[in-house]
Amino acid sequence: MPTHNSHLPAVRCAQDRTPRISSNDWRCSRCGALLGIHRDGLMHVSFARGHEYLFSYPATATCRHCGTMSQTKGPAR
Ligand SMILES: [Zn+2]
Repeated sequence: MPTHNSHLPAVRCAQDRTPRISSNDWRCSRCGALLGIHRDGLMHVSFARGHEYLFSYPATATCRHCGTMSQTKGPAR
């Protein structure tokens, strides 16, 4: 994958000192690829070329790797 050094200012420092960020991951149920990150009650999904979206739950996205459509109803507990 090419290296993009585009630091988008749209997302403020949500990752700043956030512990256990892995527990906020939303991963593909089939291949485990990262689909999005739960933050502030919304699903933050980053697509290629810097497109970023915030979805309310339930959120649905298609895996970039295997094409499986996954749905999440909220952060895992
Ligand atoms: Zn997948």
